[in-house]
Amino acid sequence: MPQLGSAEAPLRVAIIGSGPSGFYAAEALFRQPDTVVMVDMFDRLPTPHGLVRGGVAPDHPKIKSVSKVYDKTAANPNFRFYGNVELGKDISNAELHAHYHAIIYAVGAQTDRRLGIPGEDLPGSYPATEFVGWYNAHPDFRDLKFDLTQKSAVVIGNGNVAMDVTRILASSYEELRKTDIADYALEALRTCNVVDITMLGRRGPAQAAYTNPELKEFGELEEADVIVRPEDAALDPLSQAAFDKEHDATAEKNMKTMEEYVHRPVGNKKKRIHMWFLWSPVEILGTDHVEAIKLVKNELVVGADGSLKARATDQFETIPVGLVFRSIGYMGVPLADVPFDQRGGVIPNDHGRVMDPATSQQVPGEYVVGWIKRGPSGIIGTNKPDSVETVNMLIEDTAKLPAVNPADATPESVEQLIKSRKPDYVSYSDWLLLDQLEQSNGQAQERPRIKFSTIPEMIDALAKIKNA
Ligand SMILES: Cc1cc2nc3c(=O)[nH]c(=O)nc-3n(C[C@H](O)[C@H](O)[C@H](O)COP(=O)(O)OP(=O)(O)OC[C@H]3O[C@@H](n4cnc5c(N)ncnc54)[C@H](O)[C@@H]3O)c2cc1C
Repeated sequence: MPQLGSAEAPLRVAIIGSGPSGFYAAEALFRQPDTVVMVDMFDRLPTPHGLVRGGVAPDHPKIKSVSKVYDKTAANPNFRFYGNVELGKDISNAELHAHYHAIIYAVGAQTDRRLGIPGEDLPGSYPATEFVGWYNAHPDFRDLKFDLTQKSAVVIGNGNVAMDVTRILASSYEELRKTDIADYALEALRTCNVVDITMLGRRGPAQAAYTNPELKEFGELEEADVIVRPEDAALDPLSQAAFDKEHDATAEKNMKTMEEYVHRPVGNKKKRIHMWFLWSPVEILGTDHVEAIKLVKNELVVGADGSLKARATDQFETIPVGLVFRSIGYMGVPLADVPFDQRGGVIPNDHGRVMDPATSQQVPGEYVVGWIKRGPSGIIGTNKPDSVETVNMLIEDTAKLPAVNPADATPESVEQLIKSRKPDYVSYSDWLLLDQLEQSNGQAQERPRIKFSTIPEMIDALAKIKNA
């Protein structure tokens, strides 16, 4: 028997999910000096790149250009992409085990964390996950409607996603039309009535999770003023002490920018972004639509781990508002027949090796990367070392990977299976055709691209190109 990982018996790996973590895992596999690896990557969407396409804000094109790196990985002759093929629906975990020596789950975090407060599901209260998916033309969200007739919105959360949501609401039509925002979202936002957007941070400005470039962008918007009250930019003694001790460069820059906003004269732009800190929502009020939000003032206390936590006081405030966007974090969802940690929203793992919580044993041949491995934190680049770590474990395990019937461990047998299940699967070269078409459709309107937003549209467009 030839050795697994040799040219005669390549190591066959299925990667489920084509976001950054999936692509960095593929890249790390192809970099193995002594192992021949064949990678098949699956995605439930016809389009690859996960949140680089469906999450990163449309006005951040430079960040999206990371997809060129993924194109290079995809050009490896040992790489195949099966887009429009969903694990758990079109193909099962058992079938993957029958065809591959190892499976890497790279499915990201597909839903949102809940606030768990009354009124959370009132019409007019939306998770950021949905709004972000909607403006980025993600097929799951393209048919959603957001009530943009309201004048006042609250964005709950203090991370970069909350910044994105706030910025998109506060941007002018001219700013948005230069981007690849979904065309229907561009139209809806053109007539958006929202003028006041209040961002709520549970803790203080020194603990905010956003980064400085995002904070600075607020101050550069054509049609929006940023309003920071002096008390919101002030450093309390605990934050000051943490500051002096830790010298967190991002927090220091953020505090300087906040100071600038406090002193900046408020202009008379059409919209206003208000940044409030040390407030948490306790109830969203309204009868058949959001009408107001009740907040509690927090104070900072030192937690058991030494970090500064928010603790509710007995001071409440209710502000009238017609729209609420909840941006308190993404959350993983379970995959059929794969262990899942409900509390953490992740696949339980030890440095990327999937672990069965019932037995505390490793699940043979199963690995995990990215947000579904460590939770929804970190930027695109964070996923690279994370995927390398998992791939190192997989390579270390090569000799003990579950055996696969050699007749099934071939590229052809998978191709046959997928064709029988999902004849309209999308390959990487198909995607590159769609990518080109989106870009050329955009050129006519001087936009970077016009995104397809439904799967039938994508499949039809591909059929037309191929039959032309
Ligand atoms: C709104 C938002 C904005 C962001 N902006 C930035 C930014 O500006 N800069 C930055 O560096 N980082 C940004 N990030 C973070 C970055 O996007 C993540 O770190 C990264 O995308 C996580 O990668 P991932 O591969 O784990 O998950 P994802 O990117 O979510 O990829 C998961 C993939 O798995 C697929 N999938 C899910 N379930 C299945 C299934 N059952 N079968 C097959 N396929 C499946 C999905 O369709 C998706 O393509 C942002 C994140 C969000 C949410």
